[in-house]
Amino acid sequence: MKILVILAHPEEKSFNASLFNTTINTLENVGHEVKSSDLYKMNFQPVSGKDNFSKLENPNFFKQQTEELFAVKNNTFLDDIVLEQEKVEWCDIMIWHFPLYWFSVPAILKGWVDKVFTMGKFYDNGRIYENGYSVGKRALMSLTTGGPRNNYTADKYGDINSILFPIHRGIFEFLGFKALKPEVIYSTERLTEEERKNILKNWSDRLTKIEIEFAANNN
Ligand code: FAD
Repeated sequence: MKILVILAHPEEKSFNASLFNTTINTLENVGHEVKSSDLYKMNFQPVSGKDNFSKLENPNFFKQQTEELFAVKNNTFLDDIVLEQEKVEWCDIMIWHFPLYWFSVPAILKGWVDKVFTMGKFYDNGRIYENGYSVGKRALMSLTTGGPRNNYTADKYGDINSILFPIHRGIFEFLGFKALKPEVIYSTERLTEEERKNILKNWSDRLTKIEIEFAANNN
């Protein structure tokens, strides 16, 4: 299968980076084709606006979705955006590695979403959810938290699935991806070395069977 792996973490020795490297190594070892985007290493510029485009249809009043439609027709997205769009179009599965920041993704990953998933290419009028451009693909979040698992309950921080709902329903499913069960690592800094090694091993084991998981999520 063709798998795109994204990392949104600034430290190359972080646990997220270890998960990202484990993902790439495991998937390649079992014969999948892998492309990746290490967003901080790429110095990906996350602020979305006029600079997304080499030429504007209306320089007097900027409206991003209008310019996106113009850019799809006239090839006026900047190259860094086009490269990322091509990776998403290429893949069968997209995996995101990120630390939970303020109950959400880090800004660099949010900016990647804002710039890459453009109207006219990834969604449009009537081209969302089951009619989205990415129908048939899967998306999977692997995230770490600082907070412990038992704080992620309805009476404390909130259930993790409700925290991740905007990503699941508002990004993945909106675009047509089916969302696989998120991999959540809690209390990341408080784990022992042994526990972290086990997590990497279990994650790698899950990935070796990703094709089965892909097929099982076909409803
Ligand atoms: P790291 O600190 O990089 O890693 C933990 C340990 O693992 C380190 O000691 C590292 O050396 C070690 N390690 C790395 N690789 C390996 C390996 N191969 N084997 C064994 N050990 C290894 N938390 C929440 O719960 N909710 C929030 O809303 C939230 N918001 C935040 C907002 C901001 C702006 C910030 C900065 C943090 C926030 N946090 C929040 C905390 C954050 O989610 C955690 O700090 C983060 O998820 C920890 O993951 P990490 O990869 O950075 O861990």
